[in-house]
Amino acid sequence: NFVVSKVIIVLWLTIMMVIGAQSLEPWSPLQAPKELVNKFSRDPLLISLASTDYGHIIHENPFAIFAPSSINDISNLIKFSNSLPFPFTVAARGQAHSLQGQSMTNNGIVVNMTELNRLKNGVGIVVSEEKSSLGYYVDVGGEQIWIDVLHATLERGLTPLSWTDYLFLSVGGTLSNAGISGQSFRFGPQISNVHELDVVTGKGDLVTCSKEKNSELFYAVLGGLGQFGIITRARITLGPAPTRVKYLRLIYDNFSAFSRDQEHLISLIGLNESNNAPDYLEGLLLLNQQPLDISFYPEFDQPRVTSLVTQFGILYVIELVKYYDNNTQEHIDEDVKLLVKDLKFVPTFMFQKDLTYEEFLNRVHSDELNLRSEGLWDVPHPWLNLFVPRSRISDFDEGVFKGIILKQNITAGVVLVYPINRSKWNDKMSAVTPNEDVFYVVSLLHTAATLDQLESFKAQNQQILQFCEDASIGIKQYLPQNKTREQWVQHFGPKWKSFQQRKVQFDPNRLLSPGQGIFN
Ligand code: FAD
Repeated sequence: NFVVSKVIIVLWLTIMMVIGAQSLEPWSPLQAPKELVNKFSRDPLLISLASTDYGHIIHENPFAIFAPSSINDISNLIKFSNSLPFPFTVAARGQAHSLQGQSMTNNGIVVNMTELNRLKNGVGIVVSEEKSSLGYYVDVGGEQIWIDVLHATLERGLTPLSWTDYLFLSVGGTLSNAGISGQSFRFGPQISNVHELDVVTGKGDLVTCSKEKNSELFYAVLGGLGQFGIITRARITLGPAPTRVKYLRLIYDNFSAFSRDQEHLISLIGLNESNNAPDYLEGLLLLNQQPLDISFYPEFDQPRVTSLVTQFGILYVIELVKYYDNNTQEHIDEDVKLLVKDLKFVPTFMFQKDLTYEEFLNRVHSDELNLRSEGLWDVPHPWLNLFVPRSRISDFDEGVFKGIILKQNITAGVVLVYPINRSKWNDKMSAVTPNEDVFYVVSLLHTAATLDQLESFKAQNQQILQFCEDASIGIKQYLPQNKTREQWVQHFGPKWKSFQQRKVQFDPNRLLSPGQGIFN
């Protein structure tokens, strides 16, 4: 019996080794259907590019890079994988501005989505000719970047309503998360501004979906972390574009006045449509730490801003924007005055700029150019993005902003804090938020110039997460970086069951976006 069991074990191990070897390199691109063969590349340079992302923390080598010439190619690639005894994983790569390897795959295939843009030759963004029952909209390839969407729509005097702070991100990449910024309190995240999608599912089927048609897939994909399909087209809501903006910063020396005013400002949308609500609202910390970025403020005022930060150690800044155009420019100053009239910022610490609409939306690009010139763009970014329930935001301020960040004095980068109305999110979508009417976005956008710094930020992030857990703050991570199954189950909460069911329905072999680390 002993000998028989030994033989069985050896046989089993041999089979597993063969399977293991096969799944490491289970197929050759030459075995692929002939229309796909030439689209794979194992060029070491391309492999190395696809093995990193904006985070510069995780590195995974794909087996090959796939350059699709059409949407059918993506569909055929996925069908080919499903036909193999050991299917390979498929990671759509938009702009790879992920932080933790979400657009990577270990030994699978990376689909270079930007290749589609090259082939479409400028026709990847089509603005509707006439106002339909949906209003104006734009049809955009999933591979397109938002700055190009902005340019194409502005040509027609139109604009998407909801944005991200930075516009060199792909449409498919942001819709797989949520796409949030200072407009989200008013119009919802970008995923709330989509009428219709074309999606290649994990089975390789090309499906058009919307609230009315194939709605399960539609809601699954929005905020679905790339798990159910590859977005190849999104139909996005447009509205009339303003031409200019008043861009204000108001400085507060205490958190409760700051958050009370922020919440008051985002509540103004509930009153009536033509009211004096802001068009954009965010907030940020100004910490008495180096480097102190006060470049927004007029040179003349910089010394008094610096002395206020030195006095308090931590200041809170509301960022507020009011759009205007030729028709409204006459009363824009009056509108701004009315908006800030009862706000409790430190008297006289209100500063403003007047910018074109595009200058404002594309404001982070100039930071990018500066950081690139200093060699600080392609470095590790141990970011942490959280949604914090309104009921616990002051505990978060005490425990995290004052208790950890201010004390540890290592913050290199921006810390954003602003509230969002949950009523603008549809609960059927895969994206998760805290279960309160208002929750705060807290983004710790660290840049690590050295390995020591990287380790300090990682430790700090861990400490923040631990504090939130110990104090039962009820946060949800945005751009989540969970590692274990338990963490994912907790992250999705009541949505976990349907998230799993949708995976079985749309990607039964679990091919898509393995870099998220949810199902593998
Ligand atoms: P990638 O990193 O390429 O992909 C992200 C995930 O989506 C991967 O899992 C990938 O497989 C999947 N994916 C990619 N394309 C598709 C597709 N077509 N269909 C289905 N799945 C796909 N986010 C905000 O919400 N608001 C912000 O203001 C904001 N600012 C940012 C600023 C900077 C400088 C950076 C680096 C990131 C910022 N982000 C912001 C985060 C950003 O939205 C996400 O990281 C987003 O995924 C980036 O898009 P991408 O094209 O680079 O995606």
